[in-house]
Amino acid sequence: MKDDKSTTFQEVKDDIVQFIDEREWKNFQEPKEVAISLSLEAGELLENFQWVNTPIEEIKADPKKMEDISDELADVIIYAMQLSNAFGLQLSECIRQKMEKNRKKYPANLVKGKHHKYTYYQSQNKVE
Ligand SMILES: [Mg+2]
Repeated sequence: MKDDKSTTFQEVKDDIVQFIDEREWKNFQEPKEVAISLSLEAGELLENFQWVNTPIEEIKADPKKMEDISDELADVIIYAMQLSNAFGLQLSECIRQKMEKNRKKYPANLVKGKHHKYTYYQSQNKVE
């Protein structure tokens, strides 16, 4: 079995493209539709947490709940990968660039142990 250490983004993206091509669904993959679908799947992921405060260890011990979360998380990532394909974006580079922005927004020495939005730190004149 391959895991995240031995699987590349490109392998997963190629699998998604193959799935779409085999079904001749390419004409249904407009970025707007894919972005809407991504948001809807994120909502389905959230349904797993709505109205409950189940500790994570309890969730992890529930195979059905873990399957539901896994399926919805996969749906979100699949649509994200489709969007990256549509725009010709290298997902790993997108993530690297965004993480660099996040490091600037949330300097570790200022935010360690805190969970405010970056605007809080700007309003405190603690971040440029
Ligand atoms: Mg779903």
